[in-house]
Amino acid sequence: MTSPLNTLRRIVRAEKSPAEERCDMCAERVAPDHQHLVDLQSRQLMCACRPCWLLFADDNAHQRYRAVPDRVLAVDPPALDDQQIPVGLVFLFRNSARDRIVALYPGPAGATESELDIAADDPAFAQLRPDVEALLVRQGRDAYLAPIDACYELTGRLRTVWRGFDGGQEARDAVDEFFTRLAGKVGRGK
Ligand SMILES: [Zn+2]
Ligand SMILES: [Zn+2]
Repeated sequence: MTSPLNTLRRIVRAEKSPAEERCDMCAERVAPDHQHLVDLQSRQLMCACRPCWLLFADDNAHQRYRAVPDRVLAVDPPALDDQQIPVGLVFLFRNSARDRIVALYPGPAGATESELDIAADDPAFAQLRPDVEALLVRQGRDAYLAPIDACYELTGRLRTVWRGFDGGQEARDAVDEFFTRLAGKVGRGK
């Protein structure tokens, strides 16, 4: 007999095996550092092989799927007050369907989403591609424009190490390590 917990474990294990990773569009095998698409209807992130990714890489195409670009830029942080970043870290992206800036706060249960009362014409958002890129902001420190799948990756990592209200030391170390890696990617990709 298979309990729901066993099934869940099996799914988790399958997702962690790089040999099993496949393109969600055509089922072709993909490398561990493959690219992603955003499904604009379900807001899901999908794994993609290079040819499928290229199909949806045109910003101006009105399609259901949009390729997540791989550029990373260092940017000036947007004007936020401390209440808008309770744990000192926030991901901001532009939701094209709602034409709003949406904030994601990482935490022990994944990420909490809320619409921010923030001017979408803040210069920090000028280069942000809707739905597929995010600003990762550390309050009082730095901000990067990065692929939105980077936010999912960091959120997943933080969920496993988060302790207490502010995440604790292990979460802070994970964030520092992640931002150092982002800084090393600035200027590459497009
Ligand atoms: Zn494919
Ligand atoms: Zn993937």
